Amino acid sequence: MKRSRSEWVFIFMFIPSIIAFYAIYKYPEAILGQGVDTRILGKSLSFWYALLYTAIVCSIAAKVLVQNKNSYSFKKNITQPLSSYQKKKFTSIFIAQLVGFFLVPYVLLPLVGGKSFWHDDLSYATKSAHVYLYPGFKSWGMAVYLFVVIPLGVWFFGKRYCSWICSCGNLAETVGVTVWGKKWVKEGTPRGEMANRNHIVQLTVMTFAITFGLVLFFDSMKIVAMEGIILKIQAIQDFFIDFMFGSVAGVAAYPFWGTRIWCRYGCPLAKFMELSGKISKSNFQVSANEKCTGIGLCTQACPMGIDVASYAHLNKKPTMGSFGLQNTICIGCGGCIDVCPTQALSFK
Ligand code: SF4
Ligand code: SF4
Ligand code: SF4
Repeated sequence: MKRSRSEWVFIFMFIPSIIAFYAIYKYPEAILGQGVDTRILGKSLSFWYALLYTAIVCSIAAKVLVQNKNSYSFKKNITQPLSSYQKKKFTSIFIAQLVGFFLVPYVLLPLVGGKSFWHDDLSYATKSAHVYLYPGFKSWGMAVYLFVVIPLGVWFFGKRYCSWICSCGNLAETVGVTVWGKKWVKEGTPRGEMANRNHIVQLTVMTFAITFGLVLFFDSMKIVAMEGIILKIQAIQDFFIDFMFGSVAGVAAYPFWGTRIWCRYGCPLAKFMELSGKISKSNFQVSANEKCTGIGLCTQACPMGIDVASYAHLNKKPTMGSFGLQNTICIGCGGCIDVCPTQALSFK
């Protein structure tokens, strides 16, 4: 991948900063010492982390909406406007991130909780994100959300949760349409047979997540006491899956492997959505028409490494194929549709 000097400088600063940032965020006592007070101005690290994350996502989403230019085009001077699909998607990302992942949990709830806003309790980052599935075995509310609401959403809308709402996906989607982000997706995303065969890793992570969930469930129901095992599994989950995979490979490696490594090979919720889409025979599909000329930009724009062009043409002759969750891991981002100069693709 050809990179400018400024991009290299960025990468040399970005990777150690992300690793150090997540290490302090997730393991403050191991890095800074036992009982360390990580609050800044009375607010927890989680608050500042969410604020920074939300600022990055929302500022890029707002820029895309204000500029109103095709955010997936590889051209230098883009004249085509942003499609109405992308306008809705980036508006959804902006609102979901700002309201759902920041204002409600970090501003509204503490305010109505009656405590002083600028005096958080000393606590370290929570490590139970819903994408890990096992929280669905700990609370009924989360169980309904993960195992009823999300599969219903997949049935209606495919895996658009990943490109319209999910906080991890919000960062991937917004960074993926910046100048460097587009290049990282185009040139870094693993593609081809071997890359697809490695999706088995995600099945392993999902199996681990469900096993952990069952252990937690049996323990909480007092069927079997498993406190010692829970602590060990939680430590493995926190270090290998949450820190090494989700944070280091999932975010710090954006410049090398594109923006969706975690979503493609790690996230247990993604695998669960894919399977529920297959079982429910989700109607979500991307279809190709007779206008395909076989230039392959759609494949290059796909952050999930899907060979979109193979459904659209054979030896540059249109085949008018289609794909959905039966045969791909598509997240409905619409990048392949917007990058195609002949308007050969659309959502069915
Ligand atoms: S794959 Fe998982 S982490 Fe990625 S956007 Fe979807 S739900 Fe979120
Ligand atoms: S669908 Fe569009 S971008 Fe993809 S190969 Fe055909 S013409 Fe090219
Ligand atoms: S196939 Fe198209 S819509 Fe699906 S993930 Fe890839 S670029 Fe996005």
